[in-house]
Amino acid sequence: PEFWKDAACPVERPIVEQRAVLATEDSFVSVACRSRKFLEGVPNAFTILRTPFDRWYAKKAEEAGAELYAGVTVRGVVKDGERIVGVKTSEGDELSASVVLACDGVNSMLAQKAGLRPELKPSEVALGAKEVLELPAEKIEDRFALEKGEGAVMELLGSTSLGMLGYAFLYTNKDSLALGVGCKLSDYQKKGLRPSEHLEALKKHPAVRKLIEGSKTVEYSSHLIPEGGLHSMPPLARDGFLVAGDAAQMVNAAFREGSNLAMTAGRLAGETVAEAKAKNDFSRAALSTYEEKLRACYLMPDLEEVQDLEAAIEAVPDFLEFYPRLACDLARLRFTVDGQPKREHMKAAWAMLRERGLLRMARELWPLRKAL
Ligand SMILES: Cc1cc2nc3c(=O)[nH]c(=O)nc-3n(C[C@H](O)[C@H](O)[C@H](O)COP(=O)(O)OP(=O)(O)OC[C@H]3O[C@@H](n4cnc5c(N)ncnc54)[C@H](O)[C@@H]3O)c2cc1C
Repeated sequence: PEFWKDAACPVERPIVEQRAVLATEDSFVSVACRSRKFLEGVPNAFTILRTPFDRWYAKKAEEAGAELYAGVTVRGVVKDGERIVGVKTSEGDELSASVVLACDGVNSMLAQKAGLRPELKPSEVALGAKEVLELPAEKIEDRFALEKGEGAVMELLGSTSLGMLGYAFLYTNKDSLALGVGCKLSDYQKKGLRPSEHLEALKKHPAVRKLIEGSKTVEYSSHLIPEGGLHSMPPLARDGFLVAGDAAQMVNAAFREGSNLAMTAGRLAGETVAEAKAKNDFSRAALSTYEEKLRACYLMPDLEEVQDLEAAIEAVPDFLEFYPRLACDLARLRFTVDGQPKREHMKAAWAMLRERGLLRMARELWPLRKAL
């Protein structure tokens, strides 16, 4: 709680600006929201680097009484009849537990071994790749017009996903930038493209190139992101067993949120287990209050809101190509000074809209209201 007040907490920058960019190959339109109100009270968002942050977070858990077994892999579950009563480790040990919480990430071998989930299909996951690019803090602050220590994040949609379903992002850390892409794994397979090649193409885009100029790549990582949403969410409880975070598909791709959902679910699972312990009842029925808690907070309602968004976008094959291009063309017309009466620009703009069809556009864009 109140981690932002702990000077030892390794957060990178509190975010004062969120920027959305609609991109074609050579142009882009961006909408940015900058407000220092994001810093008031509970700060809205931080950038972090996972290695130092996770280490600090694990230490906090230990201080609160958790035991940490670093370097030990869980290989399977231990059952007593229908109930899960522990885990088997790579060291050959069996650890017993009143409740096992599967928070082992997107591939969740634990949820699979518990019979709650089949292996994920390539269409249910995105492949995310990220580079950390070292750049002095002052350069970052100059390029993003930031006050000292404050941060900005940028999300790019359109030609930057090279015809695949996905997005790109650029985050400011203290003295580095995180540049990344995330597209459906099945799209990468169809296109025969590696995420590292995708990142190289992104670095040349005019919305990105000058911001990262002169930086040095110090880290590359790629990881699956569960994006099946509620449609792919497994049952969250069985006797002696709960699932949380990426293991349970708790990612809101439309808002680029996953870490906060995982942390919220972990906390609610912990509270559920404490209640179950007080009643000495670890049955599925007793643990199902976990699902009620998830429904009573933002987590399930948010996932419900966006559950059909991806399918709606996929149903319009040129969605991420056509609409960013239209936005760029309309914006360019708005700012063009060419000796023509403005009325002619307006006519040209209407012609562009009519070419697609106003009704068709209304139908295609309507599902997006859930992501605004
Ligand atoms: C490129 C990229 C960008 C992202 N950007 C954002 C963002 O901007 N904002 C946001 O909120 N989220 C973002 N996410 C999503 C976010 O990282 C995840 O949603 C979040 O980390 C999920 O947390 P988790 O604890 O459920 O899983 P993880 O963070 O994956 O942790 C699972 C842990 O379990 C361990 N583990 C797995 N199997 C075993 C085993 N058998 N035995 C022992 N340990 C095991 C793993 O080593 C890992 O440490 C991004 C993800 C990616 C890939």
